[in-house]
Amino acid sequence: MIEQSQKQNILIVDDEPGNIKVLTELLGSKFTIRAATNGEKALKIVGSDKPPDLVLLDVMMPGIDGYAVCQRLKTDPYTQNIPVIFITSKDSEEDQVKGFKAGAVDYIMKPFSPVVVEARVQTHVELKIQREFLKELSFRDGLTGIANRRRFNDYLSTVWDFAVREASPMALIMIDLDHFKGYNDHYGHQAGDTCLIQVAQAMGAALRRKVDLVARYGGEEFGCILPKTDLDGAFLIAERFSDSILALQIPHSPSTTCSCVSISQGVASTMPSKDSSPDDLLKMADQALYQAKETGRNRYCRC
Ligand SMILES: [Mg+2]
Repeated sequence: MIEQSQKQNILIVDDEPGNIKVLTELLGSKFTIRAATNGEKALKIVGSDKPPDLVLLDVMMPGIDGYAVCQRLKTDPYTQNIPVIFITSKDSEEDQVKGFKAGAVDYIMKPFSPVVVEARVQTHVELKIQREFLKELSFRDGLTGIANRRRFNDYLSTVWDFAVREASPMALIMIDLDHFKGYNDHYGHQAGDTCLIQVAQAMGAALRRKVDLVARYGGEEFGCILPKTDLDGAFLIAERFSDSILALQIPHSPSTTCSCVSISQGVASTMPSKDSSPDDLLKMADQALYQAKETGRNRYCRC
């Protein structure tokens, strides 16, 4: 969730320390400021665990120039949503066009007016907060609070593209609650909802890496995306999911599989390539899930 009370974080990139000083004095009371005097340092800060909420970027710098920095940020799915404002003495229309084409949201001329800088930074930071808030809402499952199917699909294609580029494996686990219809019929839908929430949260808590994602795929079905993970790694996660759901000890008397709520899982891993698609991986995991159900449930199978 967005922490509105926290100061937003701004990165100022300029090879002139004097400009950094003036901008820091101007914006320092409202925002947390970090600064970089060249493009390489800027990319490092943006790629860190705490990326900025906005970048004020000089165009002319030795080494990687501002346009190139901006382009790199805009082609990386992890940084492409960070707004970039160019702040530069290059004032021709052609320069501005180049800036907007590189993906900037705004363009401020040097020498700049403090009022203009403050107002535009404020506007773009607010827009970013609103965009993220809406995105967060549209990506969350209303009942369980974990990611929804839209987020699942979106992330699946992001991770797939990344894996193709990096030539790394990725894994997928499809998860189904055993005899959930029987559970609802016996205990009622309200208890069914509570059960789904507990299961979703237990699976979320079982994931240790920030890049792993578990989502509610629909009804009592969940999906888990594991970047940079081979089959052995995915089995470890499947085992952890199984254990954490059984550890909840949610009684399930109509189940013919187990006295408490259990899950069946289909595990698949692949080396994504341009000749295959995320759908192929999804089909593999689905087939494995089918097998897990056919062979007695409360287990995980691979395709
Ligand atoms: Mg410069």
